[in-house]
Amino acid sequence: MLKTHNCGELRPKDDGMQVVMAGWVHRRRDQGGVIFIDLRDRWGITQIVVNQETAPQAHQTASEVRNEYVIQVKGVVRVRPEGTANPELETGEIEVAAQELEILNRAKTPPFYINKNEKIDEVVRMKYRYLDLRRPQMQRNIVLRHKIVKFIRDYLDERGFVEIETPILFKTTPEGARDFLVPSRLLPGHFYALPQSPQQLKQLLMVAGYERYFQIARCFRDEDLRGDRQPEFTQLDLEMSFVEREDVMDLIEGLMTELTIKVAGKTPRFMPFPRLKYYDALDRYGSDKPDLRYDIEAVDVTDIAGKSAFPVFVNNAAEGKPVRVLRAPGMARELSGTALRRVTEELEQMAKAEGARGLAWMALPANESDEVKGPIGKFFTVEQKAELFERLGAEPGDLLLFMSDTREVVWAVTDRLRRHIAERLGLADPEQIAFCWVIDFPMFHWNEEEQRWDPSQHMFTLPVPEDIPLLDTDPGKARGSQYDLVCNGYEVAGGSIRIHDRAIQEKIFPLIGQTMERAREQFGHMLEAFEYGTPPHGGIASGIDRLAMVLAGEPNIREVIAFPKTQSGADIMAHAPSVPEPSQLEELHIRVVLEPEKKPQP
Ligand code: ASP
Repeated sequence: MLKTHNCGELRPKDDGMQVVMAGWVHRRRDQGGVIFIDLRDRWGITQIVVNQETAPQAHQTASEVRNEYVIQVKGVVRVRPEGTANPELETGEIEVAAQELEILNRAKTPPFYINKNEKIDEVVRMKYRYLDLRRPQMQRNIVLRHKIVKFIRDYLDERGFVEIETPILFKTTPEGARDFLVPSRLLPGHFYALPQSPQQLKQLLMVAGYERYFQIARCFRDEDLRGDRQPEFTQLDLEMSFVEREDVMDLIEGLMTELTIKVAGKTPRFMPFPRLKYYDALDRYGSDKPDLRYDIEAVDVTDIAGKSAFPVFVNNAAEGKPVRVLRAPGMARELSGTALRRVTEELEQMAKAEGARGLAWMALPANESDEVKGPIGKFFTVEQKAELFERLGAEPGDLLLFMSDTREVVWAVTDRLRRHIAERLGLADPEQIAFCWVIDFPMFHWNEEEQRWDPSQHMFTLPVPEDIPLLDTDPGKARGSQYDLVCNGYEVAGGSIRIHDRAIQEKIFPLIGQTMERAREQFGHMLEAFEYGTPPHGGIASGIDRLAMVLAGEPNIREVIAFPKTQSGADIMAHAPSVPEPSQLEELHIRVVLEPEKKPQP
């Protein structure tokens, strides 16, 4: 080894030890006769002192080094003199007095500071990802991710799970996204699909009798990208036989709780995790992946508002449309008349963007003797107001936002405003972790365009047992045995108990607009397998990228993926995707036909 110690491990007890260290120059301070170098490696930073008098050769070399040079230092550990310790560094009580110093490799001036935590242009970060990954913050994230995956592997191994790899070159999988296709050279005109998940194969492994399978699996979905989505991503994929919904949920809840505490060093806000029914989650939070780091929720006041004199509420209530209120705690307290108007107008614009016709509001005075402000206050009697405030737990200074429309519009507005209020009031603390389960999803959503049902999860999800008869009579009412795990507003895992009975499976295909013929073509191997002794089974998959992002307190999954793609699905460091050689296409019997405007730029 070119080093005896790393840059994070020396302490005062090592005083006097002879060491060899190597790493990158994080910072250099030239004070004439003495040069200080902060030497950095993955484990930390150690201060090197190079004295012209005692080590003239090393001092000469040190005067040449620049940031990010790779150097090797031989020297002696010494406790720093009184008053010069650096409490910011774990090694801050010692330094290494250099005897010899060698430049192992020089560095050009990097395009951004590695030694400062500054905002860097995303494009530059991605182009020079290897330098971006060198930054201590990124190294912390990538190491955290490693620890998460290692913990998961150990946790599951201890509980009898076997990790089994499944192919990347495979066939279409039913997750509902677009496939990435790979042409086959040996079978011209045929294509593999990259797996959107190992769904089929993990179920087949249950037929094969493995009972407890998992995999840290790479998945591929050709979708439009967002901050929490990448075209390729990693899942903890898991499947268990002879289980019910509770068994899978308990296993994952235990795993996530321990991960949060032991690996991320944080405490989940709720233990056990709350369980929300799908429609309750929508009614209360406007979302099936609610952020429960904050308590703001929509409260139904249709009964009270329906008795008021405000025509919109009265009419809507009569038509069965809800009136719900979001209470923004203390949000009106600091606001003067004009500022309040400006804020409520902004909120109203947001509500309108979600399809609402308007947004009614009441501002509760900070001083109890003052009047309630807002255009609809006058339509409520004193008693009605008192009843309202009591139901909402309203306090002086609160801003109450009234939403009334179809249920769907109210959900959308609730979600949008809830997030906005939380942001405005600084309630979404990245250091907090709030998990919850969402269950009792409808099996299907109606697809108006295609005039068919779309599965909420995928076509292998079993309805909750008592709803199986609804498949024949009223499929829209059937609930699936699906469970989603949500953390801080992100879906971090989802799974279900599966259909293991061919007769039920065959009922699903026509409902979702699949002919039996097409289904057999795509999934015939599964239907056949199910006839050879299939255990009841269920599973779940958890997005490692999102999970690592949330546990690291980062706002974007690119912060926890070593080499992510940009928003347009490109790797701008390596220039992928790229145009293949004509001979490669020829071998694959592929001709690219492009409209002139889509021709790739050289
Ligand atoms: N395959 C599903 C997914 O990737 C998860 C599961 O049902 O286990 O979302």
